Amino acid sequence: TLSDRLAATFKNLRSRGRLSEADIDATAREIRIALLEADVALPVVRAFIKQVKTRALGAEVSQALNPAQQVIKIVNEELVGILGGETRRLRYAKQPPTVIMLAGLQGAGKTTLAGKLGRWLRNQGHAPLLVACDLQRPNAVNQLSVVAERAGVAVYAPQPGNGVGDPVQVAKDSIEYARTKQFDVVVVDTAGRLGIDAELMQQAADIRDAVSPDEILFVVDAMIGQDAVTTAQAFLDGVGFDGVVLTKLDGDARGGAALSVAQVTGRQVMFASNGEKLDDFDAFHPDRMASRILGMGDVLSLIEKAEATFSQAEAQKMADKLARGPKEFTLDDFLSQMEQVRKMGSISKLLGMLPGMGHIKEQINSLDDRDVDRVAAIIKSMTPAEREDPKIINGSRRARIARGSGVEVSAVNNLVERFFEARKMMSRMAQGGGVPGMPGIPG
Ligand code: GDP
Ligand code: MG
Repeated sequence: TLSDRLAATFKNLRSRGRLSEADIDATAREIRIALLEADVALPVVRAFIKQVKTRALGAEVSQALNPAQQVIKIVNEELVGILGGETRRLRYAKQPPTVIMLAGLQGAGKTTLAGKLGRWLRNQGHAPLLVACDLQRPNAVNQLSVVAERAGVAVYAPQPGNGVGDPVQVAKDSIEYARTKQFDVVVVDTAGRLGIDAELMQQAADIRDAVSPDEILFVVDAMIGQDAVTTAQAFLDGVGFDGVVLTKLDGDARGGAALSVAQVTGRQVMFASNGEKLDDFDAFHPDRMASRILGMGDVLSLIEKAEATFSQAEAQKMADKLARGPKEFTLDDFLSQMEQVRKMGSISKLLGMLPGMGHIKEQINSLDDRDVDRVAAIIKSMTPAEREDPKIINGSRRARIARGSGVEVSAVNNLVERFFEARKMMSRMAQGGGVPGMPGIPG
């Protein structure tokens, strides 16, 4: 991944005042490869690298992050920035119905999206109407009707007498229909072609003029990769659009199309489709897409794993114990918590790559394997009574435990001290109402 490659690039770099130009150039090469691998269009890659270089050159080498981490942080921030920062919400018309028009090439996923949007809007308490304006393909109207039925929303389709063959007329009539039947959002599904086509653009522009959409969403298949730029530009010029929907993210596309489209058109990706089912749909999250583009999804999944290690059940158990009083927290609990933290040790390296996680990494690193093993040996040399009630561990018991576990008495003293510290901390947390964190970790 990019993070590994950057770490290798900076292997010999100890923290200095600033990153040097040579360091930045080496870095730029790695970022370039990562972006091209993610199918970001070349001109977009160039512009992006230039931006990152400028920022990295001016950046002070931070104390908390190593240079590779710092560059990743800059790259990530710039990516998230271009992808739109916070997710933009749909704009609803002051005077219903709100009109959302879908545009894009054939096969991009417009009709499927109409159903997903319909379901999503309905779940939010809206009364959406899906409008079939793709009259090019024989089965298109039927496809939309099926999707609408599955989504449990209404559909407006041409019938004999209401604009058969004329999508502009159907679009116009549907707005009137929505108004009288009190549908508050109209989703207009349009025809696409396999390639960019003047006649198609004209039709889309005519539909646009007939219904004055509040939002025109450009729907684009994430799998088309590099072509996303030309397609997006053509639709921007031919029809114009306010937002982007990226589809087929369930495939193995790394999502470079998102960056290309956002950079070239300045329009935000608003939704992401990741499957053929109606629920395979979500608001677009720039931060998640940034890590996907950088190939750092593995980092995130490891973090999720780490969080799962401190499973909710475990936390609940501990919280229940603490509710009965801090005395319930025994040396056995202390040991099992340390072992949980050790399980996370293997991912500490990756945790450190993420902004804000640096301090956790340091905590975990300070708990090395030998330490956990030593603590385990000492605790296992205690009697069950001693583990339950460590207050009874007097001088002669300490000597016995030290002999049994092959350590100096001072190590036993140290452990007992740490245990009482941890218990105090736990009890403070319990009083504060928080879920216990990681007692026993120094620092
Ligand atoms: P349209 O021509 O733009 O209306 O595209 P359709 O909605 O008909 O979708 C074209 C094909 O892509 C259909 O087979 C859909 O089931 C499929 N499709 C649409 N969205 C997604 C998606 O997010 N993931 C996957 N895997 N397939 C999708
Ligand atoms: Mg369609």
